[in-house]
Amino acid sequence: MIYLDHAAATPVCEAALTAMKPYLREKFFNPSAAYLPAKEVSREYEEAKGVIAHAIGARAGDLVMTAGATEANNLAFTVLGSNDKVLVLTTEHDSVRQLALGGGSDGEFGDADRQNRTRFLHEFIEVDEMGRVRLDDLQAKMDDSVKLVSVALVNNELGTIQPLAEVAEIIRKVRYDRMRRGVKQPIYLHTDASQAINLMNVNVARLGVDLLTMNAAKVYGPKGVGALYAGHEVHLAPISVGGGQERGLRAGTENVPGVIGFAAAMNEAKEHLNGNRKKYAKWKMILLNNLRDYELINKGKTLDNFLVVSFPGLDAERLIYLLEEREVYVATGAACAASKGERSHVLTAIHLSAREIAGSLRITLGETNNETQILAAAEIINEVVMAERQRVKASYLEGKNG
Ligand code: PLP
Repeated sequence: MIYLDHAAATPVCEAALTAMKPYLREKFFNPSAAYLPAKEVSREYEEAKGVIAHAIGARAGDLVMTAGATEANNLAFTVLGSNDKVLVLTTEHDSVRQLALGGGSDGEFGDADRQNRTRFLHEFIEVDEMGRVRLDDLQAKMDDSVKLVSVALVNNELGTIQPLAEVAEIIRKVRYDRMRRGVKQPIYLHTDASQAINLMNVNVARLGVDLLTMNAAKVYGPKGVGALYAGHEVHLAPISVGGGQERGLRAGTENVPGVIGFAAAMNEAKEHLNGNRKKYAKWKMILLNNLRDYELINKGKTLDNFLVVSFPGLDAERLIYLLEEREVYVATGAACAASKGERSHVLTAIHLSAREIAGSLRITLGETNNETQILAAAEIINEVVMAERQRVKASYLEGKNG
């Protein structure tokens, strides 16, 4: 098998697995219990949170652990009250997009559900042809009702790295201007860094963000584990109530093994960051040089392990199926968009033609790969694409003659 879909899921790394094991059996205690072994687990849980926080230049107390990135994004949006506005990039992951749309009329929520939700306002910010935030559009859509701006550090379909420091600079100026005019409305910058934390040096102060989403599942940690970093001045509302865990913002018994595994995975990622980046950049170059008759879609500054190519005129869904028969696993757009049978909103936002979108494959490299696999993958993709082109041509001629 050649797995080229590491943006969708990563296997748990050895270090994380080893670290987690004791907490599944001998150290199974509830961290809230009063006896000594439980208190020890509670201390180790806090230490693990400290490791995760440290990786982004924060402290354990700044993090709320969640059941993944979707939940962390949901928690970030609790800063919004009625009539507050959120500005969201058109290319955000569905977990952010649907949250924004929930305040509007065309979201995924049903009517009854929508009535129970805070009615905040939203607007989408445009991106350029490389998928980067259009700062002029952000500035044009800024007004005094905007309380939250949400821009993912790395886009999950293109791997595009956003100029977040420039967004933060605009927000700093807005903050200053509001203060000068006596406008009380605060403004926060949120970034979903799910895809970024594996291959970038992420630091909340350097980025200038107030809220940041993390996801263990994309960094060789366990699935269903994530975190939201929130600066001290940000007021969040609970997404679940009960036992008061996670400062009362996300009640429920802590996922001790998950968080321990996340911390070990973050340590691994940090330790191998430079080596991994070089390795993936080299493999990406091998693919770019060996694949034939493709169009490069993700241009500009992207994560080293992301490659999006299009074979215009072919159907990527069919290519995926044919590649699967050869045991090569790749993706079209985001898995969620594909599973709903929708055209990728990200590829649409960067103004690709319908033909380009229909023929687009997302290849994301990772730790399950090696150089031999990459060379083999290029060859298999070339063979499959060539056979498919011949089939399409033959059926076209057949149709014409018939
Ligand atoms: N945000 C981004 C950018 C992602 O890539 C993903 C993963 O698919 C998510 C959010 C959702 O993560 P999860 O399904 O673990 O909650």
